[in-house]
Amino acid sequence: MTQNSEYKELLLNRKKEIEKIIKNLENELQSVNGCDIKEDGDFAACSTNSENNYLIYKQQLKELKEIEEALLAIDKGTYGICKMCEEEINPERLKIKPFAKYCIDCREIIEKEK
Ligand SMILES: [Zn+2]
Repeated sequence: MTQNSEYKELLLNRKKEIEKIIKNLENELQSVNGCDIKEDGDFAACSTNSENNYLIYKQQLKELKEIEEALLAIDKGTYGICKMCEEEINPERLKIKPFAKYCIDCREIIEKEK
């Protein structure tokens, strides 16, 4: 069994990376386009040029939230358990995506429902 501390390290490293990306994007979006970032991560007014950056920014914020949830789950001892079927998530999957909330089977079901 892979130790949770190993995943924790993966998650913390990824968190640092993402926080850096988010900061850079915030700076870019604000300085280049004069966008006004509100607390909820929305922009008051943006040029269409920044739309791409904005999408990436949103995506990164979402991932950051997922990482924080995963870190909480490690502390609570619920990490690595699928939120749908409550089976253990394959460790190989967690190594690639340490903030995964669902096992591969459930993930597929969710994807199909979308
Ligand atoms: Zn599952």
